[in-house]
Amino acid sequence: MAMQAWRAACLAFDPEADHPIVHYESDGLLVAEPQSDGVWRVVARGPYAALRPQWPQVPVHDWRGRCIAPGFIDLHVHYPQTDIIGAPAEGLLPWLQRYTFVHEARLADPAYAQEVASFFLDEMLRQGVTTALTWATSHPASVEAVLEQAEARGLRWIAGKVLQDRHSPDGVRDDTEGSLRETEALIARWHGRRRLGYAITPRFAPSCSDAQLQGAGALAAAHPSVWVQSHVAENVDEVRWVRELYPHDRSYLAVYERFGLLRPRAVYAHGIYLDEVDHARLAATGAAVAVSPTSNLFLGSGFFDYAAARRAGVRLGLASDVGAGMSFSPFATMRAAYTVGRAAVRGDGAAKAAVSLTPEDLWWQHTAGAARAAGLAGVVGSLAVGSEADFIVLDPEATPLLKRRCAHAASLTEWLFAFIVLADDRAVAHVHVAGQPHNFTQRPSGRNEARA
Ligand SMILES: [Zn+2]
Repeated sequence: MAMQAWRAACLAFDPEADHPIVHYESDGLLVAEPQSDGVWRVVARGPYAALRPQWPQVPVHDWRGRCIAPGFIDLHVHYPQTDIIGAPAEGLLPWLQRYTFVHEARLADPAYAQEVASFFLDEMLRQGVTTALTWATSHPASVEAVLEQAEARGLRWIAGKVLQDRHSPDGVRDDTEGSLRETEALIARWHGRRRLGYAITPRFAPSCSDAQLQGAGALAAAHPSVWVQSHVAENVDEVRWVRELYPHDRSYLAVYERFGLLRPRAVYAHGIYLDEVDHARLAATGAAVAVSPTSNLFLGSGFFDYAAARRAGVRLGLASDVGAGMSFSPFATMRAAYTVGRAAVRGDGAAKAAVSLTPEDLWWQHTAGAARAAGLAGVVGSLAVGSEADFIVLDPEATPLLKRRCAHAASLTEWLFAFIVLADDRAVAHVHVAGQPHNFTQRPSGRNEARA
């Protein structure tokens, strides 16, 4: 297949900047071409009137009235928890015991894992998410399932087997030596295959023995291009527990650093209860925070302190954290992040600065900013020339209210904020994975097709 182009409004970001730099064309053209590795990359992007004469032979899909944007990146999501989204509990630790561990034990069944993974990936794509750092369970078959399904869809996708050899019930608890051997085998089999990547995935410090964390750190050192993902400082009870378990470490984050788990491509979910030294260590080591606002609101965990994290130069991006998260939709996550930014307290009574995050900033945190935090700058999330052509097509007329509000938008800022506040999956008209339109097996009939 040869080069193709799409005409529409076009939203893109500077891929390398540490803050949102927006490139927007109201009448734009995106040109993409398959490369020798089979992946479509952006070869040109800019104003239609200027670019079209340079590519007169290229077929153009005319989507005027809609907006091309980078596919969203979710920095932290648990695919096995798709079936327990919205499970009520009194905070993180009871929620883990009552629902999460019980359900994750079912993923030992490879057939069930395949079925959940298939539904999950189609749901993510339907919501406009084209890359994610994904948690499987402690069962290797659950990793095989999600990466097989991601490969079949041509996705740039990252996943890992959960490590949890203590303080975990039968059915999900693994054993130290075996879990590290399994992790090494999964890295060898999946990391760097097509567009897939592996993430070393210690559940959180309380669920991993010193030997397991030490082994995870050794693997992280031996495989620098492999990701690391975990949880840190999510909830006051959890932080207290870590202090009891690790009385000699300066902080919760310091436990991970002692085992060599702070480095570029290490992404820690939540990070609410961090202090100045923690923020400085994250910034210095290149590790990132996956801000998970709907999850933190759902479990009553607290409010992320944007001002403090950014003052220290911490890399961060947005995440759904389903199943504690309340939605797979990036719009729901961005609007929760805005709300969380406005809060003047953290969740433990400590004061924090209230910030009004701009719509450009929120969008960047879920696209190019997330890519940069995860070590994927220029690869996905920006639609920069040379980057992979994962993109979505937004429909500002998807609902009557969205249509009405967008018609009254006096600027791009207002238009983006209308989407953040009002949009959901109905506004994602098309999803292209590496240049190719994704065909949804579970898309309700007669919706996108009718608008194509
Ligand atoms: Zn999580």
